[in-house]
Amino acid sequence: EKFTRADILRFVRERDIPMLNLRYVGGDGRLKTLNFAIQSAAHLERVLTMGERVDGSSLFDFVDAVSSDLYVVPQLRTAFLNPFNPIPSLDIMCGFYDVNGNPLASAPQQVLRKAQDALEDATGCRLEALGELEYYLFSAEESLFPVEPQRGYHEASPFSKWEEVRTEALYHLAQMGCSVKYAHAEVGNFVADGVQAVQQEIEFLPVDVVRAADQMALAKWVVREVAHSHGIEVSFSPKIAVGQAGSGMHFHTRLMKDGVNQFSEGAGLTDAARRVIGGYLLHAASLTAFGNTVPTSFLRLVPRQEAPTAICWGDRNRSVLVRVPLGWQNLDDRMFRDANPQEGPAGALPNDSQTVELRSPDGSANVHLLLAGVTVAARIGLTDPAMLDYANSRHVSGDASQTVELEQLPTSCAEAARRLLAQRSAYEERGVFPAGLVDAWAQKLIGLGDETLREDIAEKRVRVE
Ligand code: GLU
Ligand code: MG
Ligand code: MG
Repeated sequence: EKFTRADILRFVRERDIPMLNLRYVGGDGRLKTLNFAIQSAAHLERVLTMGERVDGSSLFDFVDAVSSDLYVVPQLRTAFLNPFNPIPSLDIMCGFYDVNGNPLASAPQQVLRKAQDALEDATGCRLEALGELEYYLFSAEESLFPVEPQRGYHEASPFSKWEEVRTEALYHLAQMGCSVKYAHAEVGNFVADGVQAVQQEIEFLPVDVVRAADQMALAKWVVREVAHSHGIEVSFSPKIAVGQAGSGMHFHTRLMKDGVNQFSEGAGLTDAARRVIGGYLLHAASLTAFGNTVPTSFLRLVPRQEAPTAICWGDRNRSVLVRVPLGWQNLDDRMFRDANPQEGPAGALPNDSQTVELRSPDGSANVHLLLAGVTVAARIGLTDPAMLDYANSRHVSGDASQTVELEQLPTSCAEAARRLLAQRSAYEERGVFPAGLVDAWAQKLIGLGDETLREDIAEKRVRVE
């Protein structure tokens, strides 16, 4: 997050690094790469400054420029040492630029930058986000300590397999400059057809939404590389088996102004937090178009699997769409003092921990477009006067899946696409999503169909329980 061109030139010279990889996120959300063998300091300086030319039509389904040629230009602050390449290599994330040298308006990272700028213009605040990446590791090996199904939460080695694989990914991410919070074994844990499946999770710390999205793309790449190096399969699929925990990609957000989190005041939630929640709920159905992009996404959104089904919010409740988790702001240092009687007072705790969590997205998300949509929703929540009442009327305290009068999330890709088209103007306002992108995105999802497997699945799952 801090490197300059001079730093990089010096680093490469001092460490004698022979390789450079430019990195960028394609339209499919995956981390792409272009490999360079560094010929000389002048060659490196040229690539760092000018970037390279790439074929946009092979990277994106939808490119708004007349020509498919694009430029990728390194964002030097993101440089990191590649942890996997046996030949020492420096990797740098890039932005996309069009023929006129302007940021490519339809590139997901640029859409997200625009959304953040529009929020800042309208409210003086910026959104920070932290992602939670859930995934399964599997292999056909027998486990010495088979854990009960659905009981893997925070299980430790040797009862839970592959702690070392998970922590290796966490270590690499931290070394690469990502703001990681922690990693743990998740609930999902089962053997099916002789294959052992163990669910894992890596969580991040709150950072600017653009950085949060970039980090998630890096994290999926790192997890895949590490698993691959151990000969283990990995899946970010939203649902790999009926009746077993699905894998989500929750995003927590907080709203920052002059370094201060606007979501809590004393022990309570602020109106700003409630408004942002209102914005998320109002756009929840259309946001599934970016956060839940494959048919199996909708197999995950079933009751009693810690995944949301209804459009509502609540406190510390895993069945709701937007959860307000426990913060630390209503506490002093009493826990620390009790745990450490030999210590003196620790002083006041920082009042920055309150976030709100959007629980619908999964590993199929286009993370940059999703967070762009979330940022648009936050802006509308903050600026539309009706949003406070709207949010307050959708607060639930029980099991949301059992509260029948609540509006439900979409149940198919095509339904998500129709909800997106219905709210197109919200996403296009202030030029955040460029003309044509929402349509192109919706058409792709409509092509994935309308069938709804959800009731079937819910029935089977109840029988399993
Ligand atoms: N695995 C659950 C999901 O599908 C979430 C579990 C949790 O709350 O972390 O979203
Ligand atoms: Mg989790
Ligand atoms: Mg979560």
